[in-house]
Amino acid sequence: MINVAIDGPSGAGKSTAARMAAKTLGFIYIDTGALYRAVGVAALRWGIDTADGARVAAMLTEIKITIGFFEGVQHVFLNGDDVSEEIRLPEASMAASNVAAVPAVRAFLLALQKDMAAKNNCILDGRDIGTVVLPDAQVKIFLTASPEKRAERRYKELVEKGNIVDFNALLQEIIQRDYNDSHRAAAPLKQAADAVLLDSSDLSLEDTVAAIVRIIKEKAVLS
Ligand code: C5P
Repeated sequence: MINVAIDGPSGAGKSTAARMAAKTLGFIYIDTGALYRAVGVAALRWGIDTADGARVAAMLTEIKITIGFFEGVQHVFLNGDDVSEEIRLPEASMAASNVAAVPAVRAFLLALQKDMAAKNNCILDGRDIGTVVLPDAQVKIFLTASPEKRAERRYKELVEKGNIVDFNALLQEIIQRDYNDSHRAAAPLKQAADAVLLDSSDLSLEDTVAAIVRIIKEKAVLS
């Protein structure tokens, strides 16, 4: 199986670009952030403080997270409930970032990710795919962009969906999440030594997808 790891900070356009690249190549696209978001949503539903690692870890015995694909679109289930929309709510973002710092949560989601990768030609996007989840992935890409560009993109996305958002608050949240993700002890966000760095600050989405597809074709032998 060909496994492609795409890691990078939030809002770098990983999920959209990875999804499009996967479609071009006929691969499955797996959004691993959605799994952490589902654990975050579980904590919010259970009324558990997401910064309380011990309580979050204890909650894991009560939950089951699964992934399904409908017409090629990934859905995430929490104890059988499709939470694919709920995980996109703004409060789920910070909850995900908090629970992702808990080692037990990372261990809990590891088998699911490895299992999906073993069975499919796929692109996984996340923070630690190339470093921890699939250290032997044939292709590793670290996709980044400046915090300002990332905030701009997320702002446009949210406004297009009819949300009222404050740009500066969004930028601060991105900076805070970057800090959380790259400074936590468990599987921090960092570029794998053998990953190709791709900075999308000045690239259109189409150019980013084309660059990803080109890197994959160069690095993996496609049949
Ligand atoms: O990618 P997304 O923004 O949906 O991820 C939500 C949160 O989940 C991130 O802020 C990060 O803390 C965490 N995450 C992670 N490891 C991954 C994917 C996401 O720690 N592989």
